[in-house]
This record gives sequence, C-alpha cells and structure tokens, in this order.
Amino acid sequence: MENSDIKRFQQLMEELYGIRDKRRGIEKTLLWLLTEVGELMKAYLKDDITEMKGEVADIFAWLSSTCNLLKIDLAEVSWEKYPLNCPKCCNNPCNCPEL
Ligand SMILES: [Zn+2]
Repeated sequence: MENSDIKRFQQLMEELYGIRDKRRGIEKTLLWLLTEVGELMKAYLKDDITEMKGEVADIFAWLSSTCNLLKIDLAEVSWEKYPLNCPKCCNNPCNCPEL
C-alpha cells in the first residue's frame, strides 16, 4: 500500500466517522479496536478466510479512527518507524534474532 493510500483511507474514516468517533471518545474506540482483533483471532481459528478479510478491514478502520482521535498520521508514523529496512538490524529482510 502506498503512503498516500493510507493517508486517503485515514481521511475517509475522518469524513465517515469523525464526528461519531469524537462523541465516543478514545477509550471506547480503543475497546472496539481490541474487539476487532479478537474477532480476527476467532475467524482465524475457524479457518474462515472471508471472515478474516472482513476483520482486518475493520481493524484498519478502527486503527484509523484511533489515530484520527489522537491526531496521529498513521502513514507518516508507520513509514517513519518502519522505513525500507528493519529499524533494529537495518536489513531487508530482517535479520534480528527471532522472538
Ligand atoms: Zn531486524
């Protein structure tokens, strides 16, 4: 995904849900994000790829809403923290010891 695509998606979430996100607030929005991650895990355990696709889209949408509330540019901070090489070992692909 290009940097500008991420920016456009985050802006779209602001247009669609910005007012509702502000009313809901950051804590409840974070709870929704966590709920969606749980739903992705459930879909994975059921081996349901259609459901997994829906859940990752929801996760990205809720993460974008979270960033809108926190005034964080998701694309900017993501590319900054994860440039073209691993931020720890500076290799691509990463050569760090596995966790
Ligand atoms: Zn690494």
